[in-house]
Amino acid sequence: GSRTYSFMLRTKNPCGKVSNQLYLAMDDLADQFGIGTLRLTTRQTFQLHGVMKQNLKTVMSTIIKSMGSTLGACGDLNRNVLAPSAPLVRKDYLFAQQTADNIAALLTPQSGFYYDMWVDGEKYMSAEPPEVVNARNDNTHGTNFPDSPEPIYGTQFLPRKFKIAVTVPTDNSVDLFTNDIGVVVVSDDNEEPVGFNIYVGGGMGRTHRVETTFPRLAEPLGYVPKKDILSAVKAIVVTQRENGRRDDRRYSRMKYLISSWGIEKFRTVVEQYHGKKFEPCHELPEWEFKSYLGWHEQGDGNLYCGLHVDSGRVKGTMKKTLRELFEKYNLNARITPNQNIILCDIRRSWKRPITTALAQAGLLLPKYVDPLNVTAMACPAMPLCPLAIAEAERGIPDILKRVRTVFEKVGLKYNESVVIRITGCPNGCARPYMAELGLVGDGPNSYQIWLGGTPNQTSLAKTFMNKVKLQDLEKVFEPLFYHWKRKRQSKESFGDFSNRLGFEKLQELVDKWE
Ligand code: SF4
Repeated sequence: GSRTYSFMLRTKNPCGKVSNQLYLAMDDLADQFGIGTLRLTTRQTFQLHGVMKQNLKTVMSTIIKSMGSTLGACGDLNRNVLAPSAPLVRKDYLFAQQTADNIAALLTPQSGFYYDMWVDGEKYMSAEPPEVVNARNDNTHGTNFPDSPEPIYGTQFLPRKFKIAVTVPTDNSVDLFTNDIGVVVVSDDNEEPVGFNIYVGGGMGRTHRVETTFPRLAEPLGYVPKKDILSAVKAIVVTQRENGRRDDRRYSRMKYLISSWGIEKFRTVVEQYHGKKFEPCHELPEWEFKSYLGWHEQGDGNLYCGLHVDSGRVKGTMKKTLRELFEKYNLNARITPNQNIILCDIRRSWKRPITTALAQAGLLLPKYVDPLNVTAMACPAMPLCPLAIAEAERGIPDILKRVRTVFEKVGLKYNESVVIRITGCPNGCARPYMAELGLVGDGPNSYQIWLGGTPNQTSLAKTFMNKVKLQDLEKVFEPLFYHWKRKRQSKESFGDFSNRLGFEKLQELVDKWE
């Protein structure tokens, strides 16, 4: 028989912004050419799964028409730049979003390569970029390559995908420290943005049983005044392009360059490209996880409403209801880095009818989502990702229910939560290494268990156990949650508790449990 090709297409939406037109186009495409569902990703983009090869051209041209130069996000290039998705009309938020746009434009390759589509490792088609983005003409520090079609990437593209996030102090909804570059807006006493703290060298991906691959948190590079940010980003990208490893893809992310050089040497080299020294990072307040769920003020008289989407999969009643609301109120939206959706620019007088529509569809917080689901994430895994060795998106609803049952058994309350993230392989797309309880597929129906992340995503988890069978998860969850409930200090999160007790002690508790 003839081979059926199926293809996953990722869109690029700076800051997760989704226009009304784009939302409706994606919704149609999912029905006509996909599997009838839309998926919101952990990088604030749409994924369309299951597009057949013969339909690719139609799908791509529809997307290009509804969104301009916004295809991308595949291959060894800069991935979608993250920024807080709350549509807050506040100087720092607007500035963070604008900076994310500028960085995305800076790093957008100019050649048609950008639009090449790959199916099963074969180049299938190319499309011309609908417009040429600028912001790349500045060659002050010699970081451009004027003879090459790609001024920033040079004749060689980056060794590996490159992830960047921009945010404001306290708002860690972007999982800042998991990015190659993390940029934080620093404001003066009058709330006027004046510069940026820059962090470098984060990354999640690793390989099982290869100890020299590891997840890593970004660390402080330095502070720059706001006019220098693009030059600084460019200098970092060029440092990685010139020095990152190309001989082995497993070690090609910038985190390996920084951990082999150390941050001091890395900083010195970046400063040479940048043409000046960085100042030390400014002190910032504590980070928090912000979900933006429910109704909030935008600050311009309008409202926004964040909706939880399990594993980012928009389907069934939710899909139908959202479509109706987008059509009726001409809404715009934002995708959050936690795979949720925010309905934006809602007039006060629409709040009631929209609330009613959401309630009728069973989409209103807090009723329809268990608090465990609110912070949980899973990657697509089987059957959509060829790298998956265990279930994630399909498995997480049942696993969360089992955690809830364990919570009840050991006396933990409904509103208590633990950040749970599950991936089908060690690549770590749903950032499991930042979770308080991370499950990483390490065999058919078996998982590595990672502990030690914190609710605000500032601490890296570590491997606690290997090869725990799916059916045996309670044997680990019960002793851990039982002792957390009884031995925690006041308001101590599960992550902090795990780190305080230490893995040896925790292992003892698990081994002794019956
Ligand atoms: Fe696929 Fe692994 Fe990423 Fe999950 S973590 S989507 S299984 S590559």
